[in-house]
Amino acid sequence: KPIIIIVVGMAGSGKTTFLQRLVSHTQSSNIRGYVINLDPAVINLPYGANIDIRDTVHYKEVMKEYNLGPNGGILTSLNLFSTRFNEVVSLIERRADQLDYVLVDTPGQIEIFTWSASGAIITEAFASTFPTIITYVVDTPRSSNPVTFMSNMLYACSILYKMRLPLVLAFNKVDVVKHEFALEWMEDFEAFQTALDSDTSYTSTLTRSLSLVLDEFYKNLRSVGVSAVSGVGMDAFFNAIRDSSEDYMKNYRSDLDKRL
Ligand code: GDP
Ligand code: MG
Repeated sequence: KPIIIIVVGMAGSGKTTFLQRLVSHTQSSNIRGYVINLDPAVINLPYGANIDIRDTVHYKEVMKEYNLGPNGGILTSLNLFSTRFNEVVSLIERRADQLDYVLVDTPGQIEIFTWSASGAIITEAFASTFPTIITYVVDTPRSSNPVTFMSNMLYACSILYKMRLPLVLAFNKVDVVKHEFALEWMEDFEAFQTALDSDTSYTSTLTRSLSLVLDEFYKNLRSVGVSAVSGVGMDAFFNAIRDSSEDYMKNYRSDLDKRL
């Protein structure tokens, strides 16, 4: 059975470029991948998608027809697509023994997928049939500010508890800023406190208490540094995915059976 990798992250974190990198990595390593684009508003897709939401729903027309703005148009397009998602799952099931991974790109704005009914429907449809891993792409250069880092981790944390699936943090753009500082902050509470010491604002006080909570969250995930542009970190990423898929089998699968 293939492992499903759902790629989420803040707008501009590099999801689509990362997908492009994953596609070229699978092709050059003889890994059998299948690619799904769920962003109805992307103009130029830098990889060839096997299934593309844009072939089924035309987001500009959806905007006109329902009199919506861009975000409403994207959300409604995803809703329309999710009503037929069982067809996508059956299609992958028929090819299950010819595939290693299914790579899924999501809309630029993170909340359209992570806080919508259709995002939940699509995720559950995958997770009830295949080992499914969430990959949360982090813009590493932007997260070198401790308060920004914290907001990003809180978002990832909320996704972990909402979706209840294994989560891999992909610290992207390490060609610009290395992600070691992030690993240090996650492993060493004091180091993060020291980084915060340069900031005495209210947010920082709040962040201090939140970081205690996040400590528990960090234990439940895997982190890798990657660059979608240079290609570093791909082997580490796939190792994290394979380990997470074992977690799915051991710890998440039974919980999922109870919920469904
Ligand atoms: P998305 O909105 O999350 O799909 O983000 P995109 O893939 O469209 O990327 C947003 C911007 O970040 C683009 O200008 C990319 O070229 C850039 N980008 C993505 N990944 C990397 C990376 O690993 N390194 C660098 N330097 N830039 C990147
Ligand atoms: Mg994108």
